[in-house]
Amino acid sequence: MDLAHKKALQQLDAAHHLHPFNDNAALAKKGTRILTRGEGAYVWDADGNKLLDAFAGLWCVNIGYGRRELGEVASRQMTELAYYNSFFQCTTEPTVRLSAKLAELCPGDLNHVFFANSGSEANDTILRMVRHFWAVQEQPQKNIFIGRHNGYHGSTVAGASLGGMKGMHKQGGLPIPDIHHIEPPFWFADGGDLSEEEYGRLCAKRLEDKILELGPERVAAFIGEPIMGAIGVYIPPRNYWQEIEKICRRYDVLLVADEVICGFGRTGRWFAAEYFDFQPDIMTLAKGITSGYIPLGAVMFNDRVAGVLATRGGELAHGYTYSGHPVCAAVALENIRILEEEGIVQRCHDEIGPYLAERWKTLGEHPLVGEARIAGMVGALELVPAKPERRFFDQRGVVGARCRDIALEEGLILRATYDSMLLSPPLIWTRAQVDELVDKAWRALERTAPEFGIRRAA
Ligand SMILES: *Cc1c(COP(=O)(O)O)cnc(C)c1O
Repeated sequence: MDLAHKKALQQLDAAHHLHPFNDNAALAKKGTRILTRGEGAYVWDADGNKLLDAFAGLWCVNIGYGRRELGEVASRQMTELAYYNSFFQCTTEPTVRLSAKLAELCPGDLNHVFFANSGSEANDTILRMVRHFWAVQEQPQKNIFIGRHNGYHGSTVAGASLGGMKGMHKQGGLPIPDIHHIEPPFWFADGGDLSEEEYGRLCAKRLEDKILELGPERVAAFIGEPIMGAIGVYIPPRNYWQEIEKICRRYDVLLVADEVICGFGRTGRWFAAEYFDFQPDIMTLAKGITSGYIPLGAVMFNDRVAGVLATRGGELAHGYTYSGHPVCAAVALENIRILEEEGIVQRCHDEIGPYLAERWKTLGEHPLVGEARIAGMVGALELVPAKPERRFFDQRGVVGARCRDIALEEGLILRATYDSMLLSPPLIWTRAQVDELVDKAWRALERTAPEFGIRRAA
């Protein structure tokens, strides 16, 4: 794309397009970055730079860019039957086949699905569905959701309320009533001298304490990301989710796993519920369900919830025009076919995940890196001022943003949350691409460190 063309687009963008999660005035001055093409592990920008995308778009392009098959099934479905609703006692074949496929893939008796268009919408659905579930069993007061501070469950009113992002709560009068939050597990900042197991128990106990404080007869559900993504890839202790599950069972609180990031292979298992070996009652799906090629979200729920809704729920007063959209369903099916037939999830588990982990850990040796954490194909580098103290920079986020910008100059896309450099690549990466990541990330660390008075490694 020539410079004049790019500039013109940037001007139109600044004039007419409000970007999510951005300081739009600052962005308008700087000019938005325009991406033009994607192929496999790489994307290209308007200046012709080839960038290794270590963030899979936004945690979602699991099968990588440029798979023609997805475009072809979308084209076929649009030509055959572009749209029909699921409201008027109707459905379409791709929607039915995807429902059955998801029931087969999801662990345990998560055999039922409700379709939405995004992760946020799916979490809105869960809030209403769960409250309805208790209400029709003569427990309308059992309506409280417990989430975690700094959790992310999307950006709609319910999603942002269930999440624990303070900056989001400040805008629009959130959270809505009857949503509470507990502290999340984040060993780096909060684990002290505890062993992983002790810390896992302590963090789970925070849920039990909160349930007892509110009264178990008031608590409808607990919702959490198995690995907290947006806040900085917080990977909980191995025993955390099993302890959480026990507590939920003890007080008859529904367990909701928001698998929007973790689902569809991110941890080297199809779902993080398998990675951590626990059984949710409800699961949120989006992102990797279509590898981001088309919007789709889904709520998976178990036989118990489905049974109550079927026998006592009456008419479900809830739905989206595009719930079960046939084109989105067809694309999801094709995405899942590719993940399965090419053994992509298995390969992450057996080969590329362990190699990525081994190489990622070497970045932890850099003087700027206080911790290199990783689970399967998702990880983070915690940048710190004074290793080995587990302490943040006084002004959080400046070093992370600088490191991200330098990485981009090196041809590598990493995301920064505060001073955590986040990793979530397409699952189709080769060893050569892992090596490229580590070389470029190391160079970015070497260039960043001296700007902040920290020595280089070499
Ligand atoms: C991205 C995300 C969501 C929201 O999904 P959208 O499709 O952006 O609405 C919800 N939960 C988690 C864990 C996410 O990462």
